[in-house]
Amino acid sequence: QVVNYAPFTLLPSAVPSVLFEQAYAVQQDFNLLVDAISQNKEFLEDTLASTIKVDDFTARLFRIHMQVLEEGLAQSVFLGINRSDYMFDCGVDGTPALKQIEINTIAASFGGLTSRTAAVHGQVLKMLGKSKEASRLLPNNPSKGLALGIAKAWELYGSQSAVVMFVVEEVQRNIFDQRCVENELWNRNIRVIRKRFRDVFEKGSLDDAKRLYMDGQEVAVVYYREGYVPKNYDQQNWEARLLLERSRAVKCPDIATQLAGTKKVQQELSRPGTLERLLPGRAEAVTRIRATFAGLYSLDVGEEGDKIAAMAIADPDQFVLKPQREGGGNNLYGEELRQVLEKIRDSPERTSYILMDKIKPQPAINYLLRAHSPLQVSECISELGIFGVYVRQGKEMVMNKAAGHLLRTKAIEHADGGVAAGVAVLDTPYLV
Ligand code: ADP
Ligand code: MG
Repeated sequence: QVVNYAPFTLLPSAVPSVLFEQAYAVQQDFNLLVDAISQNKEFLEDTLASTIKVDDFTARLFRIHMQVLEEGLAQSVFLGINRSDYMFDCGVDGTPALKQIEINTIAASFGGLTSRTAAVHGQVLKMLGKSKEASRLLPNNPSKGLALGIAKAWELYGSQSAVVMFVVEEVQRNIFDQRCVENELWNRNIRVIRKRFRDVFEKGSLDDAKRLYMDGQEVAVVYYREGYVPKNYDQQNWEARLLLERSRAVKCPDIATQLAGTKKVQQELSRPGTLERLLPGRAEAVTRIRATFAGLYSLDVGEEGDKIAAMAIADPDQFVLKPQREGGGNNLYGEELRQVLEKIRDSPERTSYILMDKIKPQPAINYLLRAHSPLQVSECISELGIFGVYVRQGKEMVMNKAAGHLLRTKAIEHADGGVAAGVAVLDTPYLV
């Protein structure tokens, strides 16, 4: 076992306060939107129809979704923890605009570790004689916000002796991030167990009322920090996932909410009229959400997709090609984008991707500190994430909040990749 410090920037990075506030202001809207999509069977079915023909992982998730619906939902309390990520796109006149990169609806991480980064950067600023600047750093505690959501779901589940189960990876590289949230639950006298899919396969069971038991303990809430990429699953793990989804335990997220976070759904949301359909009577929320969208394009088979593919091949530096994957390091850019798209432009395989306008932030200088790496000054760009938490009981929203933020910064030579992928590091916004 090896313990390293989490990677971080030496200095906090400047973030335009207007955009920071805009990101917070739209978070409750995104919570409502994700929740609405998760309940809209037809929308998910229509939107993912082309994708599941070519993408086996999405297809398997979708099959579980359909199976659970056909059986009838045992779950009546719903908990969403998501993180909406943005970059600051530099327009032609130099004015930065808030543009969404994606929304993560499963295993959105770093809420724990980032609850400590403001203190680290405050200390650094003080050591540099910048105590006035240090005092301007905003407090930020997503661990508490996430835990409050989990605690609320646990309470509504309504069994004092039931536990919260974190579903975690075989090799737990980011355990301390999870422990921050876990400790907040213990502080509220809520028991937490940590299990892998394999443990669920071996020891999980449902009773007649579809209550979930692990080792004889009833589970009220299942919080996934695993299960978002194909390599998390073998046949047994898929069976374990199905068991969890069929249960009445509160899943964070349930499988429909995971599907709501796919890149294909993100792309379809940008079509005129879609947001209005999903959020009827909420014109202002729709406007706030749409303002954060970058250009997104479908590569589905047909005339529209043909045109888009040709457009990207002609000018690949303006776009990002994204498969239905999470966790960083999967997107294609520039010359590689052109080559791949040329190869698959006449094949249905292209529908497993979406195309997105490339966001171009203004770089800034910082130092990236990473265990065992030489310290060097880098030209960097940042990505701001806002954590959203909501709880729904039946049809009623009982909690809908923005629960804190995360700023991640990386050197510009890396087009892709987050903190877990070893590219980005933790940062703190310094509002300007
Ligand atoms: P993942 O699910 O793998 O995290 P993302 O959509 O977040 O996928 O993309 C991964 C990374 O690629 C982002 O953190 C960002 O650095 C970069 N990226 C994604 N989309 C864009 C874009 N439209 N413009 C510029 N960079 C992007
Ligand atoms: Mg991402």
